Amino acid sequence: MGAPEAFTATATVGHFMQGQATPGASGRSQPIYNPATGQVARQVALADAGDVGTAVAAAQAAFPSWADTPPLRRARVLFKFLELMNQHRDTLAAMITAEHGKVFTDAQGEVTRGIEIIEFACGIAQLLKGDYTEQVSTGIDNWTLRQPLGVVAGVTPFNFPCMVPCWMFPVAIAAGNTFVLKPSPLDPSPSLLMAELFKQAGLPDGVFNVVQGDKAAVDALLQHPDVRAISFVGSTPVAHHIAQEAARFGKRVQALGGAKNHMVVMPDAELDQVVDALIGSAFGSAGERCMAVSVAVLVGDVADTIMPRLIERTQQLKTTNGMEPDAEMGPIVTAAARERIRGMIASGVQQGAKLLVDGRSQTVPGHDDGFWLGGTLFDHVTPGMRIYQDEIFGPVLSCVRVPDFNAALDLVNAHAFGNGVACFTRDGHVAREFGRRVQVGMVGINVPIPVPMAWHGFGGWKASLFGDMHAYGEEGVRFYTKQKSIMQRWPQSTPKGAVFVMPTAK
Ligand code: NAD
Repeated sequence: MGAPEAFTATATVGHFMQGQATPGASGRSQPIYNPATGQVARQVALADAGDVGTAVAAAQAAFPSWADTPPLRRARVLFKFLELMNQHRDTLAAMITAEHGKVFTDAQGEVTRGIEIIEFACGIAQLLKGDYTEQVSTGIDNWTLRQPLGVVAGVTPFNFPCMVPCWMFPVAIAAGNTFVLKPSPLDPSPSLLMAELFKQAGLPDGVFNVVQGDKAAVDALLQHPDVRAISFVGSTPVAHHIAQEAARFGKRVQALGGAKNHMVVMPDAELDQVVDALIGSAFGSAGERCMAVSVAVLVGDVADTIMPRLIERTQQLKTTNGMEPDAEMGPIVTAAARERIRGMIASGVQQGAKLLVDGRSQTVPGHDDGFWLGGTLFDHVTPGMRIYQDEIFGPVLSCVRVPDFNAALDLVNAHAFGNGVACFTRDGHVAREFGRRVQVGMVGINVPIPVPMAWHGFGGWKASLFGDMHAYGEEGVRFYTKQKSIMQRWPQSTPKGAVFVMPTAK
């Protein structure tokens, strides 16, 4: 296989409504940067309430006939979309690398994880089967079924511009809803290509719409009376705001927020595996993953053994343009994000953590203006420090030393976030206790980034998720449908007259 082709289009990225690409009517736009060069690559349109109204109207008009389409026929469109997504996997990955910065092979992995949700959604006919009880009372049967909600919306973050939208729209659309996606304006190109591919697959116009934009577009979606539900993935303050606003406007909501994922390393853990796991999960995608391990909890004397190896590996990280075949880490998404992360590193130093590797002076020859930041390693981090409490969302690994397993567990459970966590050990009892007692939504045992598979659903606890249901999997199907219960009798004989007491089984 030859080198992948870079994504270099310069046209403004617009919206997709009623089956067509459109620049919208707002006249607003903002630049999209290539983070590896630091240059403006193209513009993205920013929707206003008028554009959002047009998209929602298209979705509302398409809903009755799409909801009425048999699930098996809806699934056939998804099968065709799946095929097209597989064919365009590398084009999507190149778009991701060009706008987000992550390395190309990682971007390919992201697209693959998104495609897995489409594979799951292809089974919608089976997933929508209801429950049936014959003879709940003499001559009466009762069954429950699930029906789509109507127009539903998704608001997604910059860090997975293909995978996170795929957590939402394939399941929602397979279930019979119509959808309006509002992607991150930092890397909006994959969403537009996915909309075009879905249309090519035979999706009726108006079923899947994309509005590019910022807070103005999100507020318009929250306030629109025809939007029945909002799925959100992003930072915790915005997730909290979305959950509150959705509740205020009477919408169903799932709002997934930020994270601070710990990896507990027991003294009996397989240390080669631990070092690989920590380096890959802390620095992969420059730490811009909601499942990145950002805190290593080193139990007993394991810190002294492991620290020299962590220092060496952090210093050796190959940080460069994500399209380079040997790249391990790409740039940070924006200059502003890099400044924020640099500020967090400074606060760690100021609050007394021991800075062992400092990535702040990272440069990449030939890419002088790129948003570079090297891998950064802290030891002796304590729970009172900002670098421990706040999500950094960059390539910074903080090591905390604790005396024993219970102290490690207490530390993890006291943290405000509860997205993902891992424990590395060879002791089955410790692993079992950890899995049972830890207050976190997704747990890895000797697995650093336990992102659940398509049919298991994804979601954290505490400040990492507002709402009741996780994304995708059967939880996703439940989120995008409402239950109806039907009780039915077909009397054989003549009626016996009205009954005024509560019916009971006879
Ligand atoms: P963000 O919260 O800044 O933005 C997310 C989305 O919300 C974007 O579409 C953005 O345009 C929109 N938005 C931003 N500010 C808004 C506001 N004030 N009102 C309404 N909408 C607003 O997040 P980000 O920087 O794009 O993504 C990184 C964050 O996402 C991290 O905190 C990361 O942990 C989180 N994340 C969480 C998960 C998860 O599953 N829990 C997955 C991926 C990313």
